[in-house]
Amino acid sequence: MNQLIVGNWKMNGSLAANAELLAAVCQGLATAPASDVAVCVPMPYLAQAQALLSSTGVAWGAQDVSSHEAGAYTGETSAAMLRDFGCRYTIVGHSERRQYHGEHDDTVAVKAQRALAAGVTPIVCVGETLAEHEAGRTEFVVKRQLSAVIHAVGHCTSEIVVAYEPVWAIGTGHTATPEQAQAVHAVLRAQLQAATPRAQRVRILYGGSMNAANAAELLRQPDIDGGLIGGASLKASDFLSIIASCRTA
Ligand code: PEP
Repeated sequence: MNQLIVGNWKMNGSLAANAELLAAVCQGLATAPASDVAVCVPMPYLAQAQALLSSTGVAWGAQDVSSHEAGAYTGETSAAMLRDFGCRYTIVGHSERRQYHGEHDDTVAVKAQRALAAGVTPIVCVGETLAEHEAGRTEFVVKRQLSAVIHAVGHCTSEIVVAYEPVWAIGTGHTATPEQAQAVHAVLRAQLQAATPRAQRVRILYGGSMNAANAAELLRQPDIDGGLIGGASLKASDFLSIIASCRTA
């Protein structure tokens, strides 16, 4: 299976800047990349992503989805709405949502369920904080986070994407070493294997200060199936260079 590189734009962009960035990315991908590529954009720009990317090989998605199906939930965006705008993916459980919006494992699990039910692939983020990392609790934390989702989505576990994002590595410039990341990915793979006979088709992305300089070594690890890229996805040349670092299938 192809590796998957996903840009997480976070709360960045404008109509003009997005058009420029997407044009540069699409132009750079003119020769078929070895990996699958997607960008997760702020909600107001989903229509723009749909318009600009529909006839390209680049998929698009959102950075969050409501845990509710529809109704009186001011400010929320449902999974069906994401589907309406052609989203292939939505991130769920990003550490910034867990940290600033109080999202817990059970909410993240329902969000993953909602996405799957609407035909949108959830990119389920797991990862330990610096304090948890230093206390040697990484494995416990990521397994707990993934287990909530596996329990909620059951036989659809093989349809999700997982992203291991150590919180201490996000936006900090401190990347997990390839060995550290691989060790956690192997733990997650084993957990998926216990849950579904099709665990091998679940892509486990690494995220956390991945950039043009460190991508190739990370992406060479056997259980790293791609990357979730924040800061470096906002610059076309960096994003393209990460994509070019992918293993060929
Ligand atoms: C992210 O927020 O998903 C992320 C990986 O950010 P960065 O690449 O900037 O560390």
